[in-house]
Amino acid sequence: MKKIIPTLIIGTVAGLQANAVVDKNFNYHVDRFADIEVLRYEVPEFDRLTPQQRRMVYYLSQAAQMGRDIIWDQNGKYNLQIRQLLEKIYQNYDGDRNSKDFKAFEKYLKQVWFGNGIHHHYSTDKFKPEFSEAFFAEQVNKLRPCCLPTNDGETREQMLAKLSKVIFDPTYMAKRVNQDGTQDVVATSAGNLYGDGVTQVEVEAFYNKMKDPNDATPISYGLNAKVVKDADGNLKEDVYRVNGLYGPAISEIIYWLDKAKGEAENDAQKAYITSLIDFYITGDLRTFDEYSILWAEDTKSDVDFVNGFIESYGDPLGMTGSWESYVNFKNAKSSARTETISSNAQWFESNSPVDPRFRKENVKGVSAKVINAAMLAGDAFPSTAIGINLPNSNWIRAAHGSKSVTIENITEAYDMASHGNGFNEEFVIDAPTSKLMEDYLYITDMLHTDLHECLGHASGKLLPGVDGDALKENGSALEEARADLFALYYLADPKLLELGILDNPNAYQAEYYKYMLNGLMTQLNRIEPGADIEEAHMRNRQLVAGWALKNGKKKAKGGKDVVELVKKGGKTYVKINDYPALRQLFATLLAEIQRIKSEGDYKAGNDLIQKYAVKVDPKLHKEVLDRFSKLDIPPYRGFINPLYTPVLNEKGEIEDVTISWPESYTEQMLRLSRDYSPLTKKGCKK
Ligand code: ZN
Repeated sequence: MKKIIPTLIIGTVAGLQANAVVDKNFNYHVDRFADIEVLRYEVPEFDRLTPQQRRMVYYLSQAAQMGRDIIWDQNGKYNLQIRQLLEKIYQNYDGDRNSKDFKAFEKYLKQVWFGNGIHHHYSTDKFKPEFSEAFFAEQVNKLRPCCLPTNDGETREQMLAKLSKVIFDPTYMAKRVNQDGTQDVVATSAGNLYGDGVTQVEVEAFYNKMKDPNDATPISYGLNAKVVKDADGNLKEDVYRVNGLYGPAISEIIYWLDKAKGEAENDAQKAYITSLIDFYITGDLRTFDEYSILWAEDTKSDVDFVNGFIESYGDPLGMTGSWESYVNFKNAKSSARTETISSNAQWFESNSPVDPRFRKENVKGVSAKVINAAMLAGDAFPSTAIGINLPNSNWIRAAHGSKSVTIENITEAYDMASHGNGFNEEFVIDAPTSKLMEDYLYITDMLHTDLHECLGHASGKLLPGVDGDALKENGSALEEARADLFALYYLADPKLLELGILDNPNAYQAEYYKYMLNGLMTQLNRIEPGADIEEAHMRNRQLVAGWALKNGKKKAKGGKDVVELVKKGGKTYVKINDYPALRQLFATLLAEIQRIKSEGDYKAGNDLIQKYAVKVDPKLHKEVLDRFSKLDIPPYRGFINPLYTPVLNEKGEIEDVTISWPESYTEQMLRLSRDYSPLTKKGCKK
């Protein structure tokens, strides 16, 4: 529940000078198709690592990539078979590669790679192929038998019939994660986290029976298991572990983690890697908690990583973790900023505009640092977050703290790649606001992420006896809103100037403007005409911005609206009339959402979500889409990874590691499928 997904990033290259160590000649742009742009990212300071640290990065990167098949299978039970089949067709195709059908086929394959399956990574809607079913059948029938990824006992015809329906029938497996609370969200979601015939009521009863309401240190139920029906129709967990589900991939991950352990920087790091390996072997969630505690408490190591079943956005019930991995190391220079923030965590908590009953008396160990990503994998690839805050377990966070990171090189890559894309000219109301954003959005955006992660998620407490899951399907969106509001509120606080983090008392206005513009208008670019907003972060942003728009009517100085939507030359613009009053609105909403969370007030939370976060004004939506279409700014972006190459000594041992960026998107995806696919059947070479 604790990751930040980038909003549409506005070109703010002028703001970069504060921190960036960027190579002006680095080519960020890799590929562009459908609603996606693929970028590459630099890894600044890789050269400053020691050879031992670079070897560690290499081994952890291997462990990261070995999990790729897991997320594909979690995302849908036919995904791995479909990927193999599409890649075989792509590689063996002997017709005209410029034909309409082939071009459409290639686009579809690129989308599937990006979604780690046949559903969109963000909307979770199924991709619509633009090539014909006949073309597909013809290509499947042309493949030599050794190239066919048929399952045991399955004929070519059976596979073709089955997968044609999966790919071409728009009503079948239409949505990976269905969050429509009026339906059985388990039975109607196409993801593969629950077995055939399993219903929401059954799953809820299954876990409720396991949960002890008086357990102060509960495990993360269901985090590493697929719930299936046994022969008698009773539910059971199929656990992700070496001798269980995904065993072949998990043993590869363990192999490389063990190598990394040999390069660990200190005993604390060794201990948590050992514990993680134990967890992968046993699947015991108590061991996962032990690992999480050791990991959260190791704030000394330079090279660090996440590797496991972590975020639960892919599960409509928010329980099962999607497999992901990040390998990273500290960005020493920028970490000074977040260290300043987190060392003042108690001040921020004690002064927050929420009811004192909901504040933490002792904010524990909010460790914050700025990192450079070195490898993204699983659910964090190719689309990735710009900040993370883990572990997710509430009691561990309260008792042992959490690690909060801002991923600087990814943020930089987004920013650099956006420069000069025409966004500001089209959507920002006037030149002074544009200028303010040019000067301060980069730093305030980073700060917003820092505050959201270091302080926002970690702040506040539940009243005794309140169930952490009480807000149910609205829990994620409300939690994100809480963290965003905390960050927005403090971004405008003189404390940041006092701490030397900002140098202009109006800098926050750059982020406020962007936030309102994004929440009220520009994020709609990610929504299909006629659709509702579903993704938690988007719901959060529309909730915050829409609530402030509505509740700031006539509340500004001189009786004006705090924020309004105005027309200029037939186009709609966001106009902010009173920034300090907007800050007060954020404070008021923060206090209310904190109350909702602390008291577990499902009804009030649901009312807020239904009133502000879900529905879209169709007229404004159409206008935003039209204006964007003229700019050709891709609504979504993601990354390919750099290539790490071992340097061997005479004995053939890995001595050092080099980094390079030689690949296209397609080349990288095909290489990953070739070299890192422990769960797929090996067939012919080509
Ligand atoms: Zn968050």
